[in-house]
Amino acid sequence: MIIEEMTMNEFAAGLERTRTVLIPFGATEEHGPHLPLATDTLHAAAVGRRLSERRPIFIAPPVPYGVCRSTADHPGTLSISTATLRALAIDIVAALYRQGLRNFILLTGHAGGTHTSTLVDAGEELLQCYDDVRVAVLTEYMLAAQEGRGIIETPDDSHAGEIETSRMLHMHPQLVKGSAEREYPDFPVGILVRDKRRYWPNGVWGDPTLATAEKGARLEEAVVDALERLVDRLEEGED
Ligand SMILES: [Zn+2]
Repeated sequence: MIIEEMTMNEFAAGLERTRTVLIPFGATEEHGPHLPLATDTLHAAAVGRRLSERRPIFIAPPVPYGVCRSTADHPGTLSISTATLRALAIDIVAALYRQGLRNFILLTGHAGGTHTSTLVDAGEELLQCYDDVRVAVLTEYMLAAQEGRGIIETPDDSHAGEIETSRMLHMHPQLVKGSAEREYPDFPVGILVRDKRRYWPNGVWGDPTLATAEKGARLEEAVVDALERLVDRLEEGED
């Protein structure tokens, strides 16, 4: 049940079937010289859509902005502040709560550390605000890396590398502009640097040359399987 495609009456009928909603969070962020800026948003929205084909669940409109610290100076990255992201997450959940939803999955396609901990912080606040909600916060990249062991060949593959390129080749091949060289960032440990591109010129973390659409299809399937297990557990309400 994709909320932005539903009518008012369909939404009301959907509440009879489930009180669970997944909110995809993404980013508008460089993804190397070969992947679109919307990569993270597209990933999170795609697995939401796939999940909703398997079971009754609401999928909220994706949030296309995130907190992008280390890529903020790369061309095309549009980063927002942690305060804005936190407020957005809390306001969106409040609006969905008012509509009758009670189980919330904040699924982020962007896995930046500051971004993810901001969503966790918002989730903790929501648990304090509402006695009758259950909240999950997770990065779908984490699921892909975990579930993709045995599929992915690149060690420590992360941003715009083998995983994300494979998934984009599967999902939206027309948006992939060739490939890019293997690269890892070289930031000094513990020091916040002004000129981030100096330490990460091409904005790739991993090896896109090993990406295939077939790996992407298997990864996506594995991510949706893992998400489905998570929703089962959330809805059982043991936690
Ligand atoms: Zn990404």
